[in-house]
Amino acid sequence: MGRAHPRPQHRASDSHRTCVNEDVSADDGIVIIGASHAGVEIAVSLRQRHYAGPITLISDEPSLPYHRPPLSKAYLAATGGKPQWLRPEATYTAARIDLVLGVAAVRIDRAHKRIELANGRIIAYRKLALATGARIRRLPATLFDALHPNNLHYLRSEADALALRGQLVAGRRLVVVGAGYVGLEVAASAAKAGLKVTVLEAMPRVLARVTGSLMSSFYEEVHQSRGVVIKKDVIVEGFKFNDDGGDVAAVRYKHQASGEVIDVPCDLVVVGIGVTPNVELAKDAGLRVDDGIVVDVTALTSDADIVAAGDCTRHPNVIVGRQLRLESVQNAVEQARVAAATLLGIDASYRAVPWFWSDQYDMKLQMAGLSDGHDQTVLRGTKESGSFAVFYLKAGRLIAIDAVNRPKEFMACRRLIGLDVDIDCKALADSDVDLAQLAAPRESTVDV
Ligand SMILES: Cc1cc2nc3c(=O)[nH]c(=O)nc-3n(C[C@H](O)[C@H](O)[C@H](O)COP(=O)(O)OP(=O)(O)OC[C@H]3O[C@@H](n4cnc5c(N)ncnc54)[C@H](O)[C@@H]3O)c2cc1C
Repeated sequence: MGRAHPRPQHRASDSHRTCVNEDVSADDGIVIIGASHAGVEIAVSLRQRHYAGPITLISDEPSLPYHRPPLSKAYLAATGGKPQWLRPEATYTAARIDLVLGVAAVRIDRAHKRIELANGRIIAYRKLALATGARIRRLPATLFDALHPNNLHYLRSEADALALRGQLVAGRRLVVVGAGYVGLEVAASAAKAGLKVTVLEAMPRVLARVTGSLMSSFYEEVHQSRGVVIKKDVIVEGFKFNDDGGDVAAVRYKHQASGEVIDVPCDLVVVGIGVTPNVELAKDAGLRVDDGIVVDVTALTSDADIVAAGDCTRHPNVIVGRQLRLESVQNAVEQARVAAATLLGIDASYRAVPWFWSDQYDMKLQMAGLSDGHDQTVLRGTKESGSFAVFYLKAGRLIAIDAVNRPKEFMACRRLIGLDVDIDCKALADSDVDLAQLAAPRESTVDV
């Protein structure tokens, strides 16, 4: 439990502040860098655990923290309005969370326990949390010939989604580069809005990084039935630009097997080729980094006063049995709760089954566990019905499920995965068997 501290002032935005090199926080408390799913959850959890000291939550984004998943789904289909806030502004005020918006933290001085912001402000901390997330991976600049096309989009932030949304006009031709979740969700949103969509994927199947071949072929068929053209095993080689403003007029790709080069004419392009964790602050401060800020099961970094949570971390997962870096809201939120406990000296450890969801058309895909390394799959239901589940087993143990419109099976398997019990494959395949009966309730993922 933290000490009692005087109330800090709530600041809706810090981007205009001019106080340079001023140690504003005489009574240094907990500072959190990054205010998205992980950062906000750390702040709120600290208060829920009755921490009374100052909390400063720093974001380089200008708006109130918002839900990121809708950006490729409902938000793209909407015609106006704000994003869905993670918490209303009043929550931060009531919880005395000092929200500092629109300014990046640029340096951590671990020796003096201080943070430097881009506007020169210095903030002292007693404990620090890093929730810096991830940023989009970009195509090589060499493909653009120093041009900055207005019709080429990436999608990570609300600003990105807003710019893209304005160009999603029925009848336009969209090329999506990358058939991961974000690419396919954008393709689905655009096809529903009446655009003509072509998806280019470097791998031999869609969603190759995250699911098995059965689910990949299902999603390929679903998209194709909605008129989406999918080109697999192809590499983007370059772009053709309009003569006037330098917008992209066509995407040039090469088929990897045949070597054939093709130009796809287009009105706009969305690139979804993955993300890179934001680790530079941590690395420059001398923290251990390895494709993510390295933390232990308590979310502690290599500094006893600094925790990290969310997309930016590489952490041990005791259920999967190895180090992971995950990109999911569930991981961000649940790891954040452990990080908050650790900051307060409460014994907690993170041991959650990873899970994820994706909404495309009228299909909800829910995935739990990690299927890589499986040696057996079992199917329940049929692809044709649009409601089915694929179970992945390894040496007789259930390690993952991908469920399409099958929430009950998904929920049951979240509890079954990682349990040291033999699973009857006939029961898995039989839609009449209630899997919840096989699943003993799992204890809290925050093991306190
Ligand atoms: C379009 C889209 C759709 C998605 N759909 C799903 C989905 O359906 N299901 C799902 O589980 N996940 C989904 N995700 C992934 C999910 O949004 C992320 O896993 C989640 O946002 C991770 O939260 P985070 O807080 O760890 O990091 P982030 O959300 O990346 O937030 C990190 C924040 O820190 C800020 N920041 C970074 N460095 C600094 C600095 N130095 N100073 C100040 N601020 C800084 C960043 O600008 C950002 O605001 C989706 C992501 C996108 C982009």
